[in-house]
This record gives sequence, structure tokens and C-alpha cells, in this order.
Amino acid sequence: QAVSPVPPDARPRLTVLSGPSGVGKSTVVAHLRQAHPEVWLSVSATTRKPRPGERHGVQYFFVENEEFDKLIANGELLEWAEFAGNRYGTPRRAVLDRLEAGEPVLLEIDLQGARLVRESMPEAQLVFLAPPSWDELVRRLTGRGTEPPEVIERRLAAAKVELAAESEFDTTLVNTSVEDVSAELLALMRVV
Ligand code: 5GP
Repeated sequence: QAVSPVPPDARPRLTVLSGPSGVGKSTVVAHLRQAHPEVWLSVSATTRKPRPGERHGVQYFFVENEEFDKLIANGELLEWAEFAGNRYGTPRRAVLDRLEAGEPVLLEIDLQGARLVRESMPEAQLVFLAPPSWDELVRRLTGRGTEPPEVIERRLAAAKVELAAESEFDTTLVNTSVEDVSAELLALMRVV
């Protein structure tokens, strides 16, 4: 009988970080990866236009609508969702390859995407990042300063719905400090 050198529950698995827009998911992820570059973060494809400073292949693969259609048609996305008028999707192959190689994999995606991952990969652990309060979330969304008011309105409306989804997640982390949350996330991923 083959003996696995690593107990099954100690193996890295897919971790999905989700939560309302503006809650600070990408800040947490950036902080976490600075300290632990070995945590592999999936780079999503999106039809959204780049914000100032964003680069193709780093924050996202920025694609046209037609190209996104093709990714869907060819089954190349693990999940995808429409969010605030743009489409976002996780390239499937890269994620599966990394998991197969035994590397810890992190997805930072919206709630609809998290639900789809739960369906297709029930072993994934779903982590909900919650704001310390609603007022704090409004402050963060408004304060980003890179979006026109109607975009902020749409994101706030989406955030209200998303906050109610916390109960569907395995774990909730409250984003009181970037350092604390990224340490907690690393522990959940068994990286530290
Ligand atoms: P933003 O436009 O602010 O970069 O992202 C908007 C939302 O899309 C965020 O909640 C972000 O987590 C989510 N998102 C980014 N990539 C993906 C993806 O590949 N799939 C899904 N479902 N959501 C994503």
C-alpha cells in the first residue's frame, strides 16, 4: 500500500478570497504576496479597461469582448462573471497545473465566481473578506478616486447584495488591518 508522504489535509488546496468590491481584497493579496511570493495568484482575464498603473498580464489580462467570448466558448475559464458592466474570468489551465504541482493557489474573485468555484471544485476553501463596517466600505469605495460616480453607485449596490452572502463561505476575515488579515489568510492556506 502506497503511503502518502503528506497527510491529505496538509496539502495546499485552492483558496478563494472574495468579498464586496472595495473591501480591500487586492491590497491584502498584494501584501501577502510581497512576503510570500511562493503563493501563486491567478491572473484573471477581464473586459474592463486598465486603471492608471495597471499592466497587461500583471493585474489582469485585458481583453476585448470578442476575445472573452472565445475564452468562454473554448472552455478556457474555470469560472467567469459579469461585475459592474465588465466580465472577469479565471484561466482554468494555469490554476489546475499549479494545484497539480502541489503549490498553494489563491484566487481573488467576486462572489458569483466564488459560488461557481464551489460547484466545480467543492474542496476549495472559500474565504469572505468583510469590511469593519458599512460606513468604512462606502468610504473606501468613494475614496478610490479613480471611478466616475455612476460606477461607484453600481459598485455600492453590488456590495450591499454581496455582504449578505457571508454565510455561504467557510471562513470570514474582517479587514481591520492588512497585516492581520494577510497573516490569517496565510495560516488558512497553511503557508505559515
Ligand atoms: P476590479 O474591477 O475592481 O479590479 O474588480 C472587480 C471585481 O471583480 C472584484 O470583486 C474582483 O475580485 C472581481 N474579479 C477579479 N477577477 C475575477 C475573476 O476572474 N472572476 C470573477 N468572478 N471575479 C473577478
